[in-house]
Amino acid sequence: MNIILIGPPGAGKGTQARRLVAERGMVQLSTGDMLRAAKESGTEMGQRVAEVMAQGALVTDEIVIGLIDEKLDSLGDAGAIFDGFPRTLAQADALDALLRGRGSRIDHVIEMRVDDEALVTRVSGRFSCASCGEVYHDTTRPTARPGVCDSCGSTEFTRRADDTAEALRARLMAYYKQTSPLLGYYHAKGALQGVDGMAEMDAVAAEIAALLAR
Ligand code: AMP
Repeated sequence: MNIILIGPPGAGKGTQARRLVAERGMVQLSTGDMLRAAKESGTEMGQRVAEVMAQGALVTDEIVIGLIDEKLDSLGDAGAIFDGFPRTLAQADALDALLRGRGSRIDHVIEMRVDDEALVTRVSGRFSCASCGEVYHDTTRPTARPGVCDSCGSTEFTRRADDTAEALRARLMAYYKQTSPLLGYYHAKGALQGVDGMAEMDAVAAEIAALLAR
């Protein structure tokens, strides 16, 4: 089973994707994570995209499609959760073609609906474990023990460089201009489903599980 999670930055795509990985053994394919990894390891491509990412704009379709294409080869039988991809119509078409070429397809497209005002609070307080990637929030989801990851016990945490008010505005704009047309695209294919992304994390997970069981 292959799933796409669509929603603006801070909608909870990464958090829900991680749960699906833990609960179902699926593979999370986050182009944002792949690009950040490329940036941190200092590859030529990573250096090229760093500035674009810091500004909150989208990197080129060619780069992200290339990243996904590579990952699909090593997917095996595990289903994929596409998190933050596709973000443009060209990426959606490319994904269809890439999956078709492998005898596979997208089974569920889930829109995570959230209020814009909530996104600022969510994004500006978030941080994640540098070791296992577990996502936390200063006020709404702090670690149980200060400075210690609940999941793996690591004491190293990171905050994203683009989780600033200014970059968030640009990221939201990119979402509405370039990504939200995908909602129409998948609706027209009869594939679009939605969940209330404003609900508690467990409730969102339960709503997603119910959709996947259909
Ligand atoms: P994310 O972690 O999904 O919020 O992505 C962080 C940043 O990486 C975005 O603001 C973009 O600059 C870039 N990015 C991630 N995924 C894509 C994509 N599918 N297409 C274009 N740019 C992307």
